[in-house]
Amino acid sequence: MFAGLMRQRWIRWDQFSTLAKPLRARLQAEVDLSWPAIIQSQGSSDGSTKHIFEMGDGRQIEGVHMPYDDRVTLCLSSQVGCAMGCTFCATGQMGIIRNLSSAEIVGQVVAMLNHHAHPLDRPVNLVFMGMGEPLHNFDHLMAAFEVLTDAEGLAIPPRRITVSTSGLVAGIQRMGSLARRPRLALSLNGTTDEHRSRIMPVNRVWGLEALAEALGRFPLQSGERITLEYVMLKGVTDSLEDARRLAAFARRFPSKVNLIPFNAHEGSGYEPPEESRIVAFCRCLSEAGLPVSVRRSRGQDVGGACGQLVREGQSRHPKIP
Ligand code: SAH
Ligand code: SF4
Repeated sequence: MFAGLMRQRWIRWDQFSTLAKPLRARLQAEVDLSWPAIIQSQGSSDGSTKHIFEMGDGRQIEGVHMPYDDRVTLCLSSQVGCAMGCTFCATGQMGIIRNLSSAEIVGQVVAMLNHHAHPLDRPVNLVFMGMGEPLHNFDHLMAAFEVLTDAEGLAIPPRRITVSTSGLVAGIQRMGSLARRPRLALSLNGTTDEHRSRIMPVNRVWGLEALAEALGRFPLQSGERITLEYVMLKGVTDSLEDARRLAAFARRFPSKVNLIPFNAHEGSGYEPPEESRIVAFCRCLSEAGLPVSVRRSRGQDVGGACGQLVREGQSRHPKIP
C-alpha cells in the first residue's frame, strides 16, 4: 500500500491519522521539500513554452521558457497566488496560497533548463515576473538567489536576474542594502495615487512619492537602471497625460521604461490599448529622453503571458482519494 501512496506526491502525510505523529511529520517534511516537477508543457507559436509545475504538496505554479537567438529568459514564480490583489492580474485574483521555498524557486530553473537540454555555454536570464510578489517572500527569494548565482550552484551572474515588484518599499530598501543583489524592476502601472490605488491596492500603503524616494536612494552600479514596467489598460492608464506623468516620475532616478500592453484574460473587465495609442505613448516617452521598449508578451496564445498565470481549481487542502 505504501509504495502506491508514495507515488502520489501531493498526499498530506500530516493528516494520515493511522501513522505515528513524528513519522507523519517527517514524511510530510520530505514531500514539502521536494522539488517542483513539470507536469504539463505548452509550446506557443512564438517559440516560448509555458510549464506547469507540481510541488510536493500538490500545489501548482507556472514558469515560462523564452528562447532568443543567443540566450534564454526564464520567467519564474515566487509564490502560489499573490496577496497584492492588483485588479488587472489573473494571479492577483487567486489570492495568496503560500510562499515558495527557496528549493522550489531554484527547482523551476533546473527543471526548465533540463527539459530544454539547455547548452551550458548559453546565457540564462531570470525574471521574477511569474506568479507572486517576490519581495513578499524576501528570505526565500534571496536564499534562492545565492544558490542561483554561486559558482558552486548555477553560476548565473546577478546582473542577469531581475526581480519585479509591485512596490513594497520595505523590501526595496532591504534589497538595496545587500552587497550582492538582483536587478530591480518596479510595476508602476499608474501615474497618480488615485489611479494607481484603484488598480494596485498596495499603493494605499506605499504611494508614488514613497516609491520615488525609495528608488532615488536605491544604490545602483554604474550603468545600471531601474526598469519601470507600465501595463497599458485601454481608457484607464493609456492617456498621453499618463505618459507625461510617467516621464516625470522616471526622470527622478536612472531608469528605463517597459510598456506592457494589457494581456486579456477572462472576467478582468479591462481591454488592451489601441495600437496607435501604444505608438503615441511610446513616442511621448522617448521624446522626453527616456529609454523605452514595448513588451510584446510571449506565450499569449497558451495563457503564459504577463498576468495570465493562474492555476484554476486548486483546492486549499488536496484530499486523499
Ligand atoms: N508581482 C510582481 C511580479 C509579477 S507580475 C509585480 O507585480 O511586479 C509581472 C508583471 O506583469 C508586472 O509588471 C505586472 O504589472 C504585469 N501584469 C500583470 N497582469 C498583467 C496583464 N494582464 N497584462 C499585462 N501585464 C500584466
Ligand atoms: Fe501580484 Fe504582481 Fe499580479 Fe499584482 S501584478 S497581483 S503584485 S503578481
